[in-house]
Amino acid sequence: MSAYIGRFAPSPSGPLHMGSLVCALASFLDARAHKGQWLVRIEDIDPPREVEGASEAILRCLRAHGLIADQPPIFQSHQSALYNQKLGVLEQLGLSYRCQCTRKALRSAGPRYSGLCRTRHLTDGAVRFNTQVWEEIQQSSVVAFTDRFCGAQRCDLAEKGDFIIHRKDGLFAYQLAVVADDIAQQITHVVRGEDLLRSTPYQLALFKSLGVKAPQYGHIPVVLNQDGHKLSKQRGDPGVDETTPYANLLQSLGHLGFECPENFLGDLSETQSRKIDNILKWATAAWSERYLH
Ligand code: GLU
Repeated sequence: MSAYIGRFAPSPSGPLHMGSLVCALASFLDARAHKGQWLVRIEDIDPPREVEGASEAILRCLRAHGLIADQPPIFQSHQSALYNQKLGVLEQLGLSYRCQCTRKALRSAGPRYSGLCRTRHLTDGAVRFNTQVWEEIQQSSVVAFTDRFCGAQRCDLAEKGDFIIHRKDGLFAYQLAVVADDIAQQITHVVRGEDLLRSTPYQLALFKSLGVKAPQYGHIPVVLNQDGHKLSKQRGDPGVDETTPYANLLQSLGHLGFECPENFLGDLSETQSRKIDNILKWATAAWSERYLH
């Protein structure tokens, strides 16, 4: 078994749209090209943003496109014990603190959190990651990494401020949950949309704090709608039509810069699932040729 473990981690805030399908396909192809495992994780940690039935719809839609995970999906809503354990570790290391600043106070203080509550020793409220302590431990506040598709990245966390890892309303923050699960699932490679590139430095800081080697990251261009905005489930961009998986896969491959040769499309007598299988095989070989050689 290859050491590669990749994943697709959708939030169930609506049906799978073309942008998410492209990300799912890219992470799937990367895993298959590496002869690794591909997992699916439903990131349902934010109930107010969740749309009823979206998790099932996403999983059904992935299956319709032949994107079958190697293990049953996990749901973040079942992972609270894991997240609490990671929060405990960070607290013990002195890398987190409670914050009770109001939204209003935060707004008037500007875009970056001032660190006001760092020295207040509060026992209640939101939990923030302490970038100052982190900087002391690392002897630098800079996170640098090489993205597989976007190249060299550099981010000074001191300029970003102390980010939230557990919200005041009791919900776990995305940055914490995603890292806790990537660790628990032993994810070695993350392929996802470029909109998450700016989250990666926070996640790398958490991996380092928790003493775990981070996965390799690769961020792919997001799919834009006609107005030039990223497709978004919350904004109501339409879900992909599950009845045309083959055409959707071809379109997704087009977004990823792969054009299937005309003669490959020739045999229209094949069954739908056979055609899907064939296109995924072709695409895996094309991905491998472009990125692994
Ligand atoms: N759940 C996140 C989203 O749907 C993606 C998380 C990730 O891939 O790290 O935007």
